Amino acid sequence: MIITRQKPLDEVLRYIRKAEKVFLVGCGECSTTCKTGGEKEVFAMKAALEKNGITITGWIMPSAPCVAAQIKTEFAKHIKEVKEADSILILACGLGAQSVRENDRFGKIVHIACDTLFMGEIDKEGVFKERCSACGECVLELTGGICPVTLCAKGLLNGPCGGVDKGKCETDNERDCAWVLIYNELKKRDSLDRLRQIRPPKDHSKTNKPRQLDLTASSLSVK
Ligand code: SF4
Ligand code: SF4
Repeated sequence: MIITRQKPLDEVLRYIRKAEKVFLVGCGECSTTCKTGGEKEVFAMKAALEKNGITITGWIMPSAPCVAAQIKTEFAKHIKEVKEADSILILACGLGAQSVRENDRFGKIVHIACDTLFMGEIDKEGVFKERCSACGECVLELTGGICPVTLCAKGLLNGPCGGVDKGKCETDNERDCAWVLIYNELKKRDSLDRLRQIRPPKDHSKTNKPRQLDLTASSLSVK
């Protein structure tokens, strides 16, 4: 899931001119779960903008605005309201926002209502945890299912570093050392031998951006 947080209303209002007509786009998946772009938040944004003299021409709630086909279909259904607007305000992640820009054939100004924070697990309602940084070369098999790229402050592949203190990280004594967690996890599963395998440096070419995966051509490329 992509974790987002709404920008302060003041900031959003700074993006929009007083007499501007705005069309709103929410997100029925991640942003609904994060309470940043679900129906409730879209209506709240509509009310807040109208209170500030901004006209809302309409709104849509695609289940996932990051899917081109969905945004195209929704825009087609609301073509009059989109056409009438000067701009589109997106209550979704950066993927949704860019998909909206790429699939809006009228070339409207795009405003962003949310900050995109990270890919996260849902721990419990309203609590999200970053656990993977999409490094393109997963090492979880060797680390007991705990990601050192994300959980170790230095992203070490062969830890721990010399700074570990009573199981805590030298950068923050409230934070567990990822490599102590990995050690304990492997020990629990009688798999400590995995720590004997030296993990080679990461192939950072796999994180060259922007990446594109094309299943039809079975190719991962930078485009
Ligand atoms: S090693 Fe960590 S960052 Fe890389 S793919 Fe696996 S979980 Fe994600
Ligand atoms: S103390 Fe542990 S988590 Fe912190 S930087 Fe060193 S190895 Fe990484």
